Amino acid sequence: MLRIPSLVSMPSFFCKCGERILDGRIPQPTEWLLMSDVEYGTYSGMVDAEQLYLAMKSMLLCPQCGRVWIFWNGYEQLPTCYGQE
Ligand SMILES: [Zn+2]
Repeated sequence: MLRIPSLVSMPSFFCKCGERILDGRIPQPTEWLLMSDVEYGTYSGMVDAEQLYLAMKSMLLCPQCGRVWIFWNGYEQLPTCYGQE
């Protein structure tokens, strides 16, 4: 079952294997934050952590099956799933 989290309600997201990998905890143990090296290069010196956080993409790692889900365009769009081979 695939449920798309919303920033308005309590975020919840289930992996294809059935594992709940987003449950609203802060910090979220299954969440990794991504940023391209090019974008990271635009930052220097003292950085506002909140600004940096907002610029990063959210990646959820399923501890059960190892799939990763990347929200390339925020939580309002469908994430892309990447599985292990
Ligand atoms: Zn999974």
